[in-house]
Amino acid sequence: MATLIIKDLHAKVDDKDILKGVNLTIKSGETHAIMGPNGTGKSTLASVIMGHPRYEVTQGSITLDGEDVLEMETDERARAGLFLAMQAPQEVPGVTNSDFLKTAVETRLEEGEHLALFDFIKQYDQAIDDLKMASDVPHRYLNDGFSGGEKKRNEILQMKLLKPRIAILDEIDSGLDVDALKIVGDNVSKMQSEDLGLLMITHYQRILEYINADIIHVMMQGRIVKTGDQSLMKKIDTEGYDWLKEELGIDDERVIVEDNEPVFLNPTKKEAL
Ligand code: ADP
Ligand code: MG
Repeated sequence: MATLIIKDLHAKVDDKDILKGVNLTIKSGETHAIMGPNGTGKSTLASVIMGHPRYEVTQGSITLDGEDVLEMETDERARAGLFLAMQAPQEVPGVTNSDFLKTAVETRLEEGEHLALFDFIKQYDQAIDDLKMASDVPHRYLNDGFSGGEKKRNEILQMKLLKPRIAILDEIDSGLDVDALKIVGDNVSKMQSEDLGLLMITHYQRILEYINADIIHVMMQGRIVKTGDQSLMKKIDTEGYDWLKEELGIDDERVIVEDNEPVFLNPTKKEAL
């Protein structure tokens, strides 16, 4: 049983406040989805949970089974069972996929536990097969020259072998064609269990046709502004976010963009959120 509790989380990057009070609790056996317009801080939340050094937490807490996650290094977080499938996975020329994965799996082992190479290879081959990836993947450099879709599958492959307790999948569906979406969706849905807490960050309902989510959140301007069930997701899919902005009193979101910075016509409404 794992419980990840995020309380009043504020974080900034390059002196820009991005997260402005996120509250979220994820338990084993639950699947949550976070939807929301671009640039609202979804990937930032994922990065902060994993401890990306670029993001500074200025307020709030993250705990995993009562342990202070913010005090842990990224590798300790991974060892504790947190996993992030990144929106844009890194390419690492010089390190093969199999070496990377073997090392990662080894760090997840308990004290005194030993990874049998034969078992590892067997599981790896099985995962490659399940994800319908090319058989030379283990020997190629990590994500190097991989297509967008191959990188996403490789993230899921890592998840299959690492068996996390809490997994965050950041836009695992973006850049996937219909066939790849089904493969990824089926593989993730097979991993859903009483032992896994899952957070899907997504723009579209499509992936949630394969992966059943019980709790749907909407994130806007650095906060979770609404939580509901599947009907909320369906409403967003057909009607977008305008009705919600209206309901929350944000009618002037991102009207002008200067130097990549959104300028709000009505800053008081932005602050009121
Ligand atoms: P989302 O995933 O919801 O689309 P992000 O979390 O990626 O949003 O980004 C939220 C905001 O933070 C955006 O305005 C983005 O430009 C900014 N941001 C995110 N990461 C960085 C970074 N490393 N450096 C500068 N700005 C960043
Ligand atoms: Mg994102």
